[in-house]
Amino acid sequence: MEIEDAVKFHGHMCPGLAIGFRVAKLAEEHFGMRSKDEELVAIVENKSCSVDAIQVINSCTFGKGNLIFRDYGKHVYTFFKRGNEKALRIVRKQNVFERDNNGNNLFEKIRAKTATPEEMTEFKKEREERIKMILEAPADELFKIEEIKAEPPKKAVIFQTLTCSECGEGMMESRARIAHGKYFCLPCFEKYDV
Ligand SMILES: [Zn+2]
Ligand SMILES: [Zn+2]
Repeated sequence: MEIEDAVKFHGHMCPGLAIGFRVAKLAEEHFGMRSKDEELVAIVENKSCSVDAIQVINSCTFGKGNLIFRDYGKHVYTFFKRGNEKALRIVRKQNVFERDNNGNNLFEKIRAKTATPEEMTEFKKEREERIKMILEAPADELFKIEEIKAEPPKKAVIFQTLTCSECGEGMMESRARIAHGKYFCLPCFEKYDV
């Protein structure tokens, strides 16, 4: 699996995808080549473009249950193999990836649709250079990489399906809400001002 595979899946090349690609490759190197089925688990603390690279390269996906999303808004990626005591934690170093002032100004202009064609070209060039830098820089310049103790595995529980009394659709019982003795799914429950 190479960067082209990640681009194909994600739909475009961007700095975020490049970061995810580097992270995914570090995990692959650390744990050996892509293991079959569900062995490698990724915990991602953001839902940026980078996560798409991890899905493709490490084969960690929501559907298989080996991609865990924690909504912390942090560029932190933790990988472990089920049954292993150690996990690999990769933290993006902050300063390395940021646009400079000039880049920020250009970005604002492009968003406001006031950028000239020259400025568009300049922005594109700067972005391409940043992507190249991310793909080529030594890993320790880009990331803090550490081994930590893996979390103990959670036990799998199979939940029943309950029916929402409002919309009639089914939901996992652990996600159901009860009001006036009736079951509600979350979207229906949230319509009420409680
Ligand atoms: Zn992207
Ligand atoms: Zn409902």
